[in-house]
Amino acid sequence: VQYHLNNIKNKAHLNAFLSVFETEALERAVAVDKKIKEGKAGKLAGLVAGIKDVLAYKDHPLQGSSRVLDGFISQFNATAVQRLIDEDAIIIGRQNCDEFAMGSSNENSAFGPVLNDADNTRVPGGSSGGSAVAVQADMCQVSLGSDTGGSVRQPAAFCGLVGLKPTYSRISRFGLVAYGSSFDCIGIFGKSVEDVALVLEVIAGGDDTDSTVSHKPVPAYTQELANANGKAYKVAYVREIDSSEGLQSEIRDAIKNKIAQIKAAGHSVDVIDFPLQEYVLPTYYILATAEASSNLSRYDGVRYGYRSSNVSDLHSLYKKSRSEGFGKEVQRRILLGTFVLSASYYDAYYTKAQKVRRIIRDKTKEIFKEYDFIVMPITPTTAFKLGEHTDNPLEMYLADLFSVQANVAGVPAIAIPCGNDKQGLPIGLQVIADDFEESKLLHFSNALT
Ligand code: GLN
Repeated sequence: VQYHLNNIKNKAHLNAFLSVFETEALERAVAVDKKIKEGKAGKLAGLVAGIKDVLAYKDHPLQGSSRVLDGFISQFNATAVQRLIDEDAIIIGRQNCDEFAMGSSNENSAFGPVLNDADNTRVPGGSSGGSAVAVQADMCQVSLGSDTGGSVRQPAAFCGLVGLKPTYSRISRFGLVAYGSSFDCIGIFGKSVEDVALVLEVIAGGDDTDSTVSHKPVPAYTQELANANGKAYKVAYVREIDSSEGLQSEIRDAIKNKIAQIKAAGHSVDVIDFPLQEYVLPTYYILATAEASSNLSRYDGVRYGYRSSNVSDLHSLYKKSRSEGFGKEVQRRILLGTFVLSASYYDAYYTKAQKVRRIIRDKTKEIFKEYDFIVMPITPTTAFKLGEHTDNPLEMYLADLFSVQANVAGVPAIAIPCGNDKQGLPIGLQVIADDFEESKLLHFSNALT
């Protein structure tokens, strides 16, 4: 714990943490140490974990990096956080992120951007940028983030880490601040597939406080990592990815090299067509903003956090608290979501996007009838410069081109390191599997790293 606390202090300029629970973490370290000596320690004894500022940790601040939740303190633990604690992990702090997990660069935080430790002039990705950098810079061993449209895998790729988004419903969302509820997944960052598998094993599974969570039994992922040897898998690569506008050539080359390595290991790789590729991103941004506009209506200046002082009546209290409390990008998404849900446009946008979502899910599932995995890049480019896309939201949304398919379809996907570009910036490979195939996904990825 002391080692990680020192790194947090020495690298404070990266702005990865919003709160550090120093005294508490040190006290817990002593208590866990005692349990270890008595032979009573849990599965994660001593594991130092950080949590994105969208996860409830009882009696600690929680504000989704937003002013609108200034002063808010969690009344309970998120299920995932509770399960970490029950297995004797040590929570070291609360991590910076894009406001309400909306963004791809961590530049939308009310507490300022997070810097990439590989190059301080570049973004770490988003929205879970602080959680990624905290693992990258050894401020903790693992982090819990959230992945609604790529927010764990994209920053993992920009920071050279392993980042897992499990199947939708594999991990309880109780205590996770809602963004797009039909997409939101808690995800895990680590330096190895093994660390990520261990944490998943602990936090996944049934929970009476989330009616959407799956009650399927949770496999012993870590044991199955070792049982993978000798299996030959069928892997698909989507032709349309190759011709994507804006795909950095070094990323294309790195993925091709990895594919050669996959073939050399005895697996087969086929190029397949997925003509729906161009519809995935628009579908995501219509539905995620629609859900966000509804989810964020609860921040009204009355029930939580920030309240404008300069108000004349109830209406102006709502308006001013929300206008002053929410940042620009969050306001943009509330407006967009409200628009696509409005009576005259509902069918043209929301209903249509729901239908397209179903087709994308069905067609993605069809691929898995024949193939075990789809491999593709996670990001079109490596980590970009701070400020490079802040004036152009559409350009920023394009950073999610390859990450949103797994969320739209609900299937699990992982980011694993796949070399560096000429400037030494990390490149990530994405592997996607069918629903609840985390075990296979993890042991295949483990063999590739
Ligand atoms: N970048 C995407 C967005 O802004 C994904 C965010 C996320 O996964 N939380 O919506």
